[in-house]
Parts: sequence; C-alpha cells; structure tokens
Amino acid sequence: MKFNRELDELVVYEAGKPIELVVREFGIKPIDIIKLGSNENPYGCSPKVSAIISENSKMASFYPDDSMFELKERLAKRYNLQSNNIIIGSGSDQVIEFCIRAKCTKGSKVLMAKTTFAMYEIYARQIGAEIIKTPSHSHEILEFKQLYSQHKPDIVFLCLPNNPLGECLDKSDVFEFISQTDPDTLIIIDGAYQEFAKAKDKSKAIDPKELLERFENVIYLGTFSKAYGLGGMRVGYGLASNEIIEALHKIRPPFNIGVLSLLAAIEALKDEDFVETCIKYTFEEMLRYESFAYAHGITFIPSWTNFITYILDDKFSGTQVADWLLRRGVIVRNLKSYGINAIRITIGTEKQNDRVFELMKEFLQ
Ligand SMILES: *Cc1c(COP(=O)(O)O)cnc(C)c1O
Repeated sequence: MKFNRELDELVVYEAGKPIELVVREFGIKPIDIIKLGSNENPYGCSPKVSAIISENSKMASFYPDDSMFELKERLAKRYNLQSNNIIIGSGSDQVIEFCIRAKCTKGSKVLMAKTTFAMYEIYARQIGAEIIKTPSHSHEILEFKQLYSQHKPDIVFLCLPNNPLGECLDKSDVFEFISQTDPDTLIIIDGAYQEFAKAKDKSKAIDPKELLERFENVIYLGTFSKAYGLGGMRVGYGLASNEIIEALHKIRPPFNIGVLSLLAAIEALKDEDFVETCIKYTFEEMLRYESFAYAHGITFIPSWTNFITYILDDKFSGTQVADWLLRRGVIVRNLKSYGINAIRITIGTEKQNDRVFELMKEFLQ
C-alpha cells in the first residue's frame, strides 16, 4: 500500500522506556524499578489529585465537557489571561501538532535548535515542511537570529529549558529575538519545564501574560506532565492571542482530554505548594549529580530543569551505560538517537539517586 510520501523518511519517535518493558524483559518487580528516563515527577502527583481521581471513577462513562470551561477558567486566573487565550491538548505534544498543522504546508520552513525535543521535527516532516537547525546543539540566540533572517521560517521553536540538554536562554535574549521577527512567523515557546527554570533563576522566567502583551506572533506551551506529576493523564495547553487560539481550535478533535484527566488538572492547579516542594527537592538532589560528575570526571551540562545530561567520553557509550543500568532496574535516557554520546537522567528522589550513584560507581570500575 502507498502512504503519504512524507512518512517514508520518518522514523518513529523513541519514547522513554516504560516500567512494563523492564518487568517483561528482565523479570524485575515493578516496585524495584527506578524510572528516570522520561522526566516525570518522582514524587508522583499531589495527594489531592489522587483523591479526586479515585472519588470520580464513575465519571468514566461520560464524555468530558468539551469546552473545558473550568480548566480554562483556572488557567486563565493563574496566568492572568482570558479563557479565549487558551487551548487544551492531550499533552502539550498535541498543541505542537495543532500549531504545525495550522501554520505549515508542504515546503514551509521550521527553525529549531540542533538538539531539541524530537516531536517538533516529526510533526513538521509529516506534512513536508523543511527543517532548519542551528549548527550548535544547544540554543544559541545569535544562530537563531542569523538563520531567521536568512530563511524567514514560518515557525520557530524555542524550548526553554531545552529537552534533552537542560540549558535555557535568558528571557531578555528571547524577547529581543522575538521583537525582530515578522508578525507572520509563529514563535513557539515550549515551557514544559518553565516551572523549574523560574524557581532556579529569575532571568530565565517567561511570564506568558507579558509575552502575549508584547508580541502577537507567539504561543506559550505548558504541561501538567512534568512538575505537576501528571504525565499519565495527558494534559497540556497553549496560551496565545485569541486569533491564534481560534485557528488551532479548527484542528482540535472533540473530547481530546479524558474526564478524569480534566478533573486531575483542575485539582493540580489548586495545590501549588506540592509543586514548589518537589522543585525544591529536585534542585537539592541536582547538586549531588553535579558532585558525582566532578568526582568521577564526567562532563555535564548545567541544567535549569528536572534532569541532568552527562556527556560521556570515548571510554564507553551512552548505550553501554543505559543498558547496564536498565538490566539493574534503572531506566535513564540514552541520547544516541539525538546523535550525541550522552545519557539524560531525571533527578529522582534521594533514595533513587543513591541507587543510581551506587550503580554508576560499579559501572565505572
Ligand atoms: C515532556 C515535554 C513536552 C510535552 O509533554 P506532554 O506530556 O505531551 O505534555 C513538550 N515539550 C517538551 C520539551 C517536553 O519535554
């Protein structure tokens, strides 16, 4: 059978390994598996959220409120915006897809950093857009400026902080860059990890309200999957001018968020203390990963988010380390598919991290 020709060249997104796989392949009990490969919240979600999910299990037979009225109201209040500035997606992943489909056709140009979230390229290539990448792996604003004026892309992706490297541009550089772009270029600020960056360093914080007030050609993406600990519920959102949001709504399928997911996200917004505490622990534990790297001569990329990327030298490969850890029940992310010899480790709980250090020491010997 013949398919959309754009699919011929596409490789399937390599998702972080699930617990189920480690159980099946290595016979390790789920309770003994440490999952630090997908940047989830190792402390889970707020207990209030778990309670809402179990109390409302009977709602599962109903379709959700497709207007997502209450979640939008809460998000609007939280960010000091209007409900018509908000679109909800099945993860912010889906909002990325809406943006590409709303803005691009075959031959459109999409600009991004060389090493960034793989789904930008996958969605763009599905519809035959041309991908332009910076020469450096991480975000370098001068390279973005240069490539922007050279190619006049339809979409620019800025991942702040960047997955899978952890670096983050300063807000001042981002705003200055956007101010030099054409009103017809859609600038996508992927804020999947902004909660972490904001807590660590004010110069990285992007306030969506200020962003939307200053610029009409931007969309800010947020998610409940990372700091809020709701990766399994699949809820994300886009914040933009009503003009952009209306266009995206033409692409959104009905009922794209489950009933329980909606309730969970609404409840999660009521417990910001939980999120703050998790972020605090994360940066405390991050220091231990930095010390471990120094002590063992491992290069790492300073991180503004909930993971750290260890760059490996020629002595061993990311695949070797990741496989070795996996067989012992620890899931980390091998960055081979991104073309770099490195592993990305989500910062776990103190106990989980103890185990990682213990195993890494064994490996290095
Ligand atoms: C995790 C992640 C997302 C979106 O995750 P969803 O679960 O789809 O909301 C988006 N961008 C980046 C950079 C991410 O790491």
